[in-house]
Amino acid sequence: MTYDYVAKKLNINGIVQGVGFRPFVYKLASQYEIKGDVSNTSSGVVIHIEGIRDNIESFCRDLAEKSPPLAHITDTSIYPETVKGFKKFSIEQSIGQAACSTLISPDVSICDDCLRELFDPDDRRFQYPFINCTNCGPRYTIISDIPYDRPKTSMKHFKMCKMCQDEYDDPENRRFHAQPNACKECGPHVTLYDNSGKKLDARNSVEKTAELLKQGYTVAIKGLGGFHLAVDAANNDAVATLRSRKHREEKPLAIMSCDIKHIRKYAYVQPEEEELLKSFHRPIVILKKKEPNSLSKQVSPRNRYFGVMLPYTPLHYLLLSHNFTALIMTSGNMSEEPICIDNEDAFERLSKIADYFLIHNRDIYLRSDDSIVKYTAGDTRFIRRSRGYIPVPVFLKKKVAQILACGGGLKSTICLTKGNNAFISQHIGDLDNQETYEFYQLTIRHMKRILDIDPVIVAHDLHPDYLSTIYALEQQNIKKVPVQHHHAHIVSCMAENRLDGPVIGLSFDGTGYGTDGSIWGGEILISEDKRFERAAHLSYVPMPGSETAIKEPWRMAVSYLYDAFGEELYSLDLPVLKEIDENKIRFIVEMISKQINSPSTSSLGRFFDGIAAIIGIRNYVVFEGQAAMELEMLVEKNTNKTYDFEWISGDMHKILLQPIVCGVVNDMSKGVHPSDISSKFHATVIKLFSELCDVIRKESGLNRIALSGGVFQNSIILSGLMEKLEEKGFQVFTHTQVSANDGGISLGQAMVAAAACNG
Ligand code: ZN
Ligand code: ZN
Ligand code: FE
Repeated sequence: MTYDYVAKKLNINGIVQGVGFRPFVYKLASQYEIKGDVSNTSSGVVIHIEGIRDNIESFCRDLAEKSPPLAHITDTSIYPETVKGFKKFSIEQSIGQAACSTLISPDVSICDDCLRELFDPDDRRFQYPFINCTNCGPRYTIISDIPYDRPKTSMKHFKMCKMCQDEYDDPENRRFHAQPNACKECGPHVTLYDNSGKKLDARNSVEKTAELLKQGYTVAIKGLGGFHLAVDAANNDAVATLRSRKHREEKPLAIMSCDIKHIRKYAYVQPEEEELLKSFHRPIVILKKKEPNSLSKQVSPRNRYFGVMLPYTPLHYLLLSHNFTALIMTSGNMSEEPICIDNEDAFERLSKIADYFLIHNRDIYLRSDDSIVKYTAGDTRFIRRSRGYIPVPVFLKKKVAQILACGGGLKSTICLTKGNNAFISQHIGDLDNQETYEFYQLTIRHMKRILDIDPVIVAHDLHPDYLSTIYALEQQNIKKVPVQHHHAHIVSCMAENRLDGPVIGLSFDGTGYGTDGSIWGGEILISEDKRFERAAHLSYVPMPGSETAIKEPWRMAVSYLYDAFGEELYSLDLPVLKEIDENKIRFIVEMISKQINSPSTSSLGRFFDGIAAIIGIRNYVVFEGQAAMELEMLVEKNTNKTYDFEWISGDMHKILLQPIVCGVVNDMSKGVHPSDISSKFHATVIKLFSELCDVIRKESGLNRIALSGGVFQNSIILSGLMEKLEEKGFQVFTHTQVSANDGGISLGQAMVAAAACNG
């Protein structure tokens, strides 16, 4: 028998480390009787293979098609080699800097194999809360440096027992090189404490925790990316207590159920949502409530939705096996502070909220909140991209320099770029307190280290007072590129859709510093990555009291009413004018007319707030965008009816708000139900912008539209505008990889800076 014996070298890039890739290669090689080796090098994973030509071809095909679920190959190059006469196939250890170029995997929910072992009384890891394998377990949150090997993770403190080590060393084993591999004998363990720091003498800490939760106590539970605060979601008193202790009186609280069957007891689950819930990222998925349901009304008041997730760690599964419909699993923090990750810190900060603490001794190196997604308008929409998705990059159309983009002020993230990759950080939060700012700086340092990026450019917002801007300007010997907020939104949408521009960009949000010093937020920008032109915007109104007007939408209501009615506003019959003391209203009107502390704004988000207050939804909010969100929640059915609208044409079209405000007030005086007014208002916004886009298309010749900004988290606006624009023949691009809100702007900033530096 004659055969053709050949050799090849393969160079592979992507997420191929810590995800069972090398064992997969090893198995594939033995299946096809191939000799050679596999190693991590500075240019990715390199595989030398020698064997019969047909087998080599099958090997290469399978490598692409059958790679493990967590692996993500971004490119493969195959080169011919001379036959060296390898005697076997071997896995070479990763050495020093060599392994630094491969991408790090995000944290991954427990896999089916490990889950089976967890509940198998005959398995040596029966009920062990830290069971994991090459296909699952913590990654990003336990890494301190690269390469991703055990000594560079928080597992370095645990020396593997003989049995674990044998698994770790055996390429045929599911736990081959699983860095967090551990068992009851050698690995981390959980302990239960009360909030005075006294250890509870429980035979089984997890069972005892379940018992305490059943009794209505709040338990702080250390998880993967930080602490959760848990209570039984069906226990109304317990949920109410948690709310008041956490000072989180309005925002929906995330819940966790053991499986889809349990979730269906209180929420509708569409097939796409089920897929998201079960994905290894295990995000919180926004699901429509079933009414009535057995959960506490306090879980998600004044909202048609629940935020729900499935368990993602073995510990969660053990807890949820104690027959709860759902547990509240909200971030372990006081509202607006970063989530706790450290045991000592947790006792300090959470002992006034939690009655008990279920902690463990595996350190979390980088906190990571749960991700939040919603399935809307035919796709997954990120509200918060964090644990489970980070640090998977956005793969860019072209190579860019190493850039640090500092993000905005609210819902901050940062972005680091290298080659074709844009790495966006986990959700950091609102940069308005020292704790969050420290977390912000730590994240930058940490990501630079583990991604091996040394930026040559720093991009930042135009707002001079944002801590992110201040941070950027403090950096020495580095080129700085300021980027307008709404331009960054649009470019971030362009980047994830791999567009060069120009596009018609609809950039709608609550707040962002404009090039004229005003607060923008209802902008149509003709955008390229390098520059933009403002094609249209909402006409300016004053924001009486500046930032205070965000927390007190009644002030915006007064501003829009004064803009439309002048002094006649006092004679209008509106709830807001009765509920707020007349002297206060006169004072606000004076601020407006004398232009005292009343910056002008073209924000669409503020307009939603103002309308919400005018129709009596709420005068004060606890979190940004709350009134606008409740305005959306009020809509029961879509309508074709709209209010009159109008814009003044010019180089820059100016959208007038008076006709809409008058229409709303008129409906109020006729006693039209607020729910119908809200439907009509939403329909008006959709119709107005779709018609305006028509005009701008004629002027600019552009047919591509990018939608970005926090307002697009409003499902009615997003799906309504997409539908109307597509009907008109526009090509519409939206966010599906990063969030439309300010969590996405760091990506846009980086891309603007990259373009600016290319001349
Ligand atoms: Zn596993
Ligand atoms: Zn062990
Ligand atoms: Fe924004």
